[in-house]
Amino acid sequence: MSSNRDIDALIDMMAKLPGLGPRSARRAVLHLIRKRELRMTPLADLMHTVAATARECGNCGNIGTEDICDICTSEKRANGMICVVEDVADLWAMERSGVFKGRYHVLGGTLSALDHVGPDELRIPHLLNRIEAEDVTEVILALNATVDGQTTAHYIADQLDGRVRLTSLAQGVPIGGELDYLDDGTITAALNARKTL
Ligand code: ZN
Repeated sequence: MSSNRDIDALIDMMAKLPGLGPRSARRAVLHLIRKRELRMTPLADLMHTVAATARECGNCGNIGTEDICDICTSEKRANGMICVVEDVADLWAMERSGVFKGRYHVLGGTLSALDHVGPDELRIPHLLNRIEAEDVTEVILALNATVDGQTTAHYIADQLDGRVRLTSLAQGVPIGGELDYLDDGTITAALNARKTL
């Protein structure tokens, strides 16, 4: 503890962030205070802006600061391919690798009998609508290799019923792994070696 109430409160808030703990939070806060002009003030301004503007894309579920995200509005990305991911973190991981040039669809989870998650709790109906509306020719499933991820993949395959080419990332992806934990090379290899379902 720093012995100052406001600074301690800031450290406590930072310590709750994913990937940080009390020790990292203390170091980060000390760094921010020492680099007030360079780091802390711009960070505070950006947080204020993003807190006011961040929202889900009404089309794909990506997080951005507009109603429809940059990927969905870009004509360059309208190449007939949609990559289906569970979570925004997976979309961002795919974008980080830079290998995929189409659009995305974020399901917002996976089907789960245990947690009572059915197709209508996910963005599966909207995915089916997009396939018609956006002249989609290939759907790439980039779902995690968990039981629920694979159940979801089978459900989507049933719903598409051969209307478009359906592929899945090659299994360079570890069981139970999440895309965000993979390096860019592994993501690129998994996309390039995708297999038809
Ligand atoms: Zn979007």
